[in-house]
Amino acid sequence: MNPSFISAPEVKPFWAGLLRHEMWLPRCTACGTVRYPPRAFCPRCFSNATEWVRCSGCGVVYSYVVTYQPATAPPGESWEVMAVVELEEGPRVLAPVVGLKEAAAVKVGMAVRLASSGDGRGGPAFEPA
Ligand SMILES: [Zn+2]
Repeated sequence: MNPSFISAPEVKPFWAGLLRHEMWLPRCTACGTVRYPPRAFCPRCFSNATEWVRCSGCGVVYSYVVTYQPATAPPGESWEVMAVVELEEGPRVLAPVVGLKEAAAVKVGMAVRLASSGDGRGGPAFEPA
């Protein structure tokens, strides 16, 4: 990942939090919207008044897709689950779900939490809660 991108002020706390296995997201202090992906302006009211909040890292699977023979799977794994996870704080995050015994174990509405392993590419991943 490009270090200059990671150090940009509108995303740095997010990436720094992931290194500590924490999810930090910007919250608009004008309307309260927690936003993902991190960005400088609120997509709801366009304010740039921002505070960073530590999210629980917990949510539910809103939707998912199973990819068989994915190019990005770790060696020896023949499938990957990519999900849209709705966080308790509201935003939806596109990320893999790891720690499943089989692809069929993932379900819409399934409780998940931020996985300490990450996605192997520097981004977030989730695991069954
Ligand atoms: Zn706002």
